[in-house]
Amino acid sequence: MARVYNFSAGPSMLPEPVLAKAAQQMLDYEGTGQSVMEMSHRSKEYEAIIQECESLLRETLSIPENYKVLFLQGGASSQFAMVPLNLMNGSGRADFLLTGQWAVKAYQEAQKFGQCKAVASSKDKTFSYIPQWQESEFTKDADYFHICYNNTIYGTRFHKLPETGDVPLVADMSSCILSEPVDVSRFGLIYAGAQKNMGPAGLTVVIVREDLIGHARPQCPTMMDYKIHADNGSMYNTPPTYAIYICKLVLEWLRDEIGGLEKMRQLNLQKANLLYDFLDESSLFRPTVDKPDRSMMNIPFVTGSKEMDAAFVKAAQDHGFINLKGHRSVGGMRASLYNAMPLAGVEKLVAFMRDFERTHG
Ligand SMILES: *Cc1c(COP(=O)(O)O)cnc(C)c1O
Repeated sequence: MARVYNFSAGPSMLPEPVLAKAAQQMLDYEGTGQSVMEMSHRSKEYEAIIQECESLLRETLSIPENYKVLFLQGGASSQFAMVPLNLMNGSGRADFLLTGQWAVKAYQEAQKFGQCKAVASSKDKTFSYIPQWQESEFTKDADYFHICYNNTIYGTRFHKLPETGDVPLVADMSSCILSEPVDVSRFGLIYAGAQKNMGPAGLTVVIVREDLIGHARPQCPTMMDYKIHADNGSMYNTPPTYAIYICKLVLEWLRDEIGGLEKMRQLNLQKANLLYDFLDESSLFRPTVDKPDRSMMNIPFVTGSKEMDAAFVKAAQDHGFINLKGHRSVGGMRASLYNAMPLAGVEKLVAFMRDFERTHG
């Protein structure tokens, strides 16, 4: 069996031991005579799975007691509406830092519900940097302040957070959750689609401070109300049962095989630095993001020639390094090095790039 190294921005690689375990449990989950996919979400076996997933996530991220964890569907994109529907209920205002396409989508969707202010933007240079912001520009009575913590498409990330005082900071962490420790108490709400670092597509995790729950607008659809999901333990309706089960296996892998989030961070840094160091000295490839704003997860790079880029992507694919083509809005290449990408995958990619450089440079 030949497995490829998949550098996709998402859905992306899952840890091989997780896939093996899921395969082993596929027909008969722990003597129940059924697959997790076939189980009632109200069965005691499934109850144990979702509870274990939540408690592992709480432990891994050190989520404080006064935060709820919700296992939802609809992707991170649904949160662009759910956040304002639930949180934009005081002044009806919210602030946004526009650092990429996902941040802009969150901003545009929220405009349907209230007054939104773009405090700063890096659109002028195709979002290749994190813009400076002025705290004096922040809306004092905003209902929330939104950021996209890691910008999947452009390969930038926040290294410092805006100081928003009493205004709840809301972060889209779809492409960086579980990649390193975070101080959850700095945020009012964190959301993430699972398909980058947590599991398969179909699961969306929301971590929300309790005092922000229960103030949804009256017209808020039931399924979009955090309180409904919080009060029902994410079981108001059928949750994405299999995706939650895989997420639990991923969290077990993170604990038992990696050794926790600090270890995960060190490994992710090692992987990212390996590629950045090569790109910084390469005569053929160059990274598109300046050092201070670089993402550890998504690394875009170019050769400067569209033809050469295409030739590289093709050659890489032929050698088992797939999905290195950059996002259509940026061009060039992008290597996404999520948690499940092994160090060996990056080492082999860099060796391949060195070779390509020698023969094409
Ligand atoms: C992938 C991604 C999204 C979109 O997620 P869906 O689950 O497809 O809705 C939103 N934000 C960020 C930062 C992403 O990386």
